Amino acid sequence: MAKLRFDALNHVLNRKMEDTVLPTELISDYYGSSVFHDKAMQQFLPRDIYKKIKECIVTGKQLERDIADHVASGMKAWALSKNVTHYTHWFQPLTGRTAEKHDAFFTPTEVGESLESFGGDQLVQQEPDASSFPNGGLRNTFEARGYTAWDPSSPAFIIGGVLCIPTVFVAYTGQALDYKAPLIKALQTLNDAAVPVAQYFDRNVARVHATLGWEQEYFLVDAALYGARPDLVLTGRTLFGHSSSKGQQLDDHYFGSIPDRAVAFMRDFEEESLRLGIPIKTRHNEVAPNQFECAPLFEEANLAVDHNLLVMDVMEKVAHRHHFRVLLHEKPYAGINGSGKHNNWSLATNTGVNLLSPGNTPKTNLRFLTFFINTIKAVNDYSDLLRATIASAGNDHRLGANEAPPAIISIFIGTQLTQVLNDLEKKVKDKGMSPDEKTELKLNIGKIPEILLDNTDRNRTSPFAFTGNKFEFRAVGSTANCSGPMTALNTIMAQQLREFYTEVENLIAKGKKKDDAILAVLREYIVQSKSVLFEGNGYGDEWVKEAQKRGLSNIKTTPHALGAYLDPKVVKLFEAAGVLTHEELEARTEIYHENYKLKIQIESRVAGDIALNHIIPAALEYQGRVIQTLKGLKDIYNEADFKLLSAPHDSIVREISGLVSNIRVDIEKMIEERKLANTKEQAEESSIIYCEKVFPYLQKLRYEVDKLELIVDDELWPIPKYRELLFTR
Ligand code: ADP
Ligand code: MG
Repeated sequence: MAKLRFDALNHVLNRKMEDTVLPTELISDYYGSSVFHDKAMQQFLPRDIYKKIKECIVTGKQLERDIADHVASGMKAWALSKNVTHYTHWFQPLTGRTAEKHDAFFTPTEVGESLESFGGDQLVQQEPDASSFPNGGLRNTFEARGYTAWDPSSPAFIIGGVLCIPTVFVAYTGQALDYKAPLIKALQTLNDAAVPVAQYFDRNVARVHATLGWEQEYFLVDAALYGARPDLVLTGRTLFGHSSSKGQQLDDHYFGSIPDRAVAFMRDFEEESLRLGIPIKTRHNEVAPNQFECAPLFEEANLAVDHNLLVMDVMEKVAHRHHFRVLLHEKPYAGINGSGKHNNWSLATNTGVNLLSPGNTPKTNLRFLTFFINTIKAVNDYSDLLRATIASAGNDHRLGANEAPPAIISIFIGTQLTQVLNDLEKKVKDKGMSPDEKTELKLNIGKIPEILLDNTDRNRTSPFAFTGNKFEFRAVGSTANCSGPMTALNTIMAQQLREFYTEVENLIAKGKKKDDAILAVLREYIVQSKSVLFEGNGYGDEWVKEAQKRGLSNIKTTPHALGAYLDPKVVKLFEAAGVLTHEELEARTEIYHENYKLKIQIESRVAGDIALNHIIPAALEYQGRVIQTLKGLKDIYNEADFKLLSAPHDSIVREISGLVSNIRVDIEKMIEERKLANTKEQAEESSIIYCEKVFPYLQKLRYEVDKLELIVDDELWPIPKYRELLFTR
């Protein structure tokens, strides 16, 4: 009965380890070799064309059409030199991952002849049949077609013999159908807003860009065991499974020695990533058994997002070669840690300055404080929007589960910076400061150390922590496309910096000196943003109470968090910044609701199937055996002895019957709730029913099935258990 499970276990135990193949090349020998980057462009493009495309990449300017022909020709020559046969526009539809459709360079000419062709037209724009991508009604009401358009700021790359050209994906009317288009707009608006502010401190600043360094957590599981778990295969997480007696309580996995099989896999996917120019630097074990993390050096945000999507893809592909499956889900296993994707974020100038890095002079520190305090104010004002950007069916399991930050958005800044802000608040006077007071304040500002001692470790429970020279948005889920949070964060920062600039200019116009004006506005922001700052333990119940007192939201589930996208304040924000229109926001919100609903719907169906077709038959089989034993006892013992000896068997039979009938009833009720939810036309209404009415049955079924797991003979249990999934190597 449990053949599949034991076959899978045997498979794992008998796997032959391949000999470790140590690298024969240095990383710097092949780093970026699959990317049409600077060096390749110089080699394959005429000098004037190279200069023009470089300018477009740096400034975000539109490329002239005839230049595109030259670029295409160079790109083709480069790709052919690497035996590439196909090309594709590579884009990010709102499914959350990437999409591609391959076309061959090969073009037949006359009978028996052909050539490799690829021109500016193919490079710049394509019209994929887009009708099956989520569009939230955008394309029904307007024009059915969608097209992809080249994003020259992210370089083309080769993967699996295919030249991939990063593109945005928009409807014929220009409305965004993807994650990339709004991100690019947000980064542009951030640049426009940040440059004038940065110029207060350095006239030479001409451009400001956002930087992103993501940290990707994931689990590995053996392919055979994975294949024997329909829930993992179909939903990415285990819907059932009693906790293993040993889990992560010994803390013996975190930063421990990485198992050989896992290292071999890491080497392999890192090498592919490095060839793609993704600067992967770090690998280590995470907290839970079989959980790991990888992280690259930070990059310009748009490029970093593309690289994260690529890495997720590469990991999944390479895992197959190593007989592993990668679990990117936020919560593959109940009872142990889930996976996140910390988004380390900062702002950098073309002059090479990190605007969130404290310096060593009063001037550089005033610059630091300006960007630091503006970030705090932006997060304070738009915390519900940030919460919405991290909402997903998977991440709901993680937030607030004492392993990840709660669903309350707050900021950790550390004691030293808390003191600096208190100091500013007290010392800056509206009516002007005496020269002595000014000198003292300047001295204090100048004293902010470059290295902030308590900003590395103590932030673990905060969803948004300052970590010395960047903010770390820690609440992002491991499957997320970072574009969602990054688009919002950069847009609110742009809006905030615009406001700041206006306020400072107003004070200057009224006769205040520049530095005094800056300090006065910053002081106001400190006063206004106090409630979002929290230094304590974010996992504690006291924080939930305290946050409520402060009026901070604590939105626990996705369907309730998504409403923030359509808050009039948020709509105004995105429209004013030119990042997303009201219609685009409505479409997106609908897609997110729909996505949530579908995820829970699938989980609910799979749970029903596994319970009915795998678990209950095993339980009844075992019950049958116990009944046989009871009959045997009855045959050989007298009434009194039978009564005594049959008690444990009797209770097993009854317990199994009780659990099995509960499971059957709960599945019926769950199906009824699904039916009700499916009658709702509004995606939001439907997703709320899935959340409030269907989801609780998943938890109830899990409780009942996990109880059965403890009763039924191990030999009969049909699906791999937690101890096997987490510890068999
Ligand atoms: P950890 O958070 O694990 O202690 P680090 O603080 O060294 O590790 O860095 C984590 C991530 O933060 C890395 O991906 C790194 O590239 C990124 N990072 C460092 N500086 C910046 C920055 N200025 N902007 C964005 N990301 C950054
Ligand atoms: Mg980190």
